Amino acid sequence: MLTLNEAYKVYNKIAFQLPVEEVSLTTALNRVLSEDIITDINMPPFDKSAVDGYAFCADDQNKTLQVIDAVYAGSSSVKKVNHGTCIKITTGAPVPKGADAVVMIEDITDLGDGFIEINRKPAKSNICKMGEDIVSGETILEKGTLILPQQIAVLASAGNTKPKVFTLPRVAIIATGNEIIEPDREPNASQIRNSNSYNLLGQLLKIGITGNYMGIVADDKDDITGRLKNALNAQDIVIITGGVSVGEHDYIPYVLEELGLELQFDKLAIQPGKPVSFASSENKFCFGLSGNPVSSFLQFELLVKPLIYKIMNYEYKLPFIVTELSGTLKRKNAERLKFVPVKLDKKGAAREVAFNGSADIVGLTKADGFAMFPKDCEVLTTGEKVEVLLIL
Ligand code: AMP
Ligand code: MG
Repeated sequence: MLTLNEAYKVYNKIAFQLPVEEVSLTTALNRVLSEDIITDINMPPFDKSAVDGYAFCADDQNKTLQVIDAVYAGSSSVKKVNHGTCIKITTGAPVPKGADAVVMIEDITDLGDGFIEINRKPAKSNICKMGEDIVSGETILEKGTLILPQQIAVLASAGNTKPKVFTLPRVAIIATGNEIIEPDREPNASQIRNSNSYNLLGQLLKIGITGNYMGIVADDKDDITGRLKNALNAQDIVIITGGVSVGEHDYIPYVLEELGLELQFDKLAIQPGKPVSFASSENKFCFGLSGNPVSSFLQFELLVKPLIYKIMNYEYKLPFIVTELSGTLKRKNAERLKFVPVKLDKKGAAREVAFNGSADIVGLTKADGFAMFPKDCEVLTTGEKVEVLLIL
C-alpha cells in the first residue's frame, strides 16, 4: 500500500501538459499562465501624488504659500513650483515640476485669496515615484502563475488583455452504486441520495472547472465499462465514486485496466480514504474515489486537485498550516496517516469536531480543516504542534 508521498511520486512521472489558448481578462481567473508577462510601462508611469493636497518644495522655509494652479488626476500642470508657491493636487495626479512633496489637505489652512498655510510639514514626500514598483521591460508575472484577481489587475495594468494560458482539463464525474439515487428523489429503506457527484462538481467549480456530470451507473461491470469508455473518449480526467473497495461489486480497478489504462495505485495508507484508485495512460487520467462522502471529498483535495494543477503546469502546494492542538487525539491502530476534521478556535488552535467517520458529511461541514495524525503516532495531546490541511 502506497503512502500519500509515494502517490505524489507517481505524479512526478506524468509528462502530459494541457494545450495553450488565449483568454480575455474576464475569463482569465483560475487559469495558469503559459508565458512570462513583461510590462511595457513603468509602474507608476509618472511621479504620482498619493494624497489630496498641495505640491510644494519640501525645503521651503515659508509656511504661507501662494496657490498658482490646480492639477487633477488625468491632467497635468504646465506651471513650475518655486519656493513660496504650491499647486493644488489630487490623488493620482502627476506631481508638477519643481515640487518634491505633497502636504495633505488635512494639514493646511486655506487663508483665502489663493493662499494656504502649512500647519504640519509632511513626514514623507507623499509621492509615488515613477517606476518604483516596476520598470518597463521587467517580467511581472512568470509562466506557471495561477491567475487570481490580483494577477488579473497586473495583466490589466500591463495592457495584456489576451494572456496565453493552459486550457482547463475536461473532467467527468460518474457515481456508481445500485443504492444511489438522485437528490430530488425520496429514498426507500435501502437507498442513499447521491451527494458525492454534487460535492465534486462544487470542488471543481471552486478551482474554475465546470465538470461534466455523467449520472449514476448501477453496480454492473458492463454498464460501468461502457460509461467509463464513453467518458474517457471525451474527457481528460474521469472521476468515478463508489465501488473501489473490496466488496463483491467493486470492479473499478479491474475495469480501468481493461480499458487500457495503467493502474498506478488502488489504495493508499490514509484514513479516511484508503480505497482510492488512480489509473492513467499518456493523456487520460481516471480516479476511482471512495463512495463515502468525506473520503471522496478528502481524496479530491489530496489527489485530484494536485493532478489537475500538475497537467495545468501549476506547482500547487496543499494549504497546510502548523498550529497547536486543543484537546487529545487517541487511537489504537496507527498504521495510516489519519485526517481528523478540526475547527480552529479564535487563537488558531485546532480542536476535533464531533465526527462519526467517513460517511458523516454533516460533521465535516463544522470543520475548518483536517489535522494530520501521523502514521505510527497513537496519542497527540493539548499544546502539541499539528499540521492542519485547511479546507479553503
Ligand atoms: P462504496 O465505495 O461503493 O463501497 O460505498 C461506500 C459508502 O458510500 C456506501 O455506504 C455508499 O452507499 C456510499 N456512497 C456511495 N456512493 C455515494 C454517493 N454518490 N453519494 C453518497 N454516498 C455514496
Ligand atoms: Mg458502491
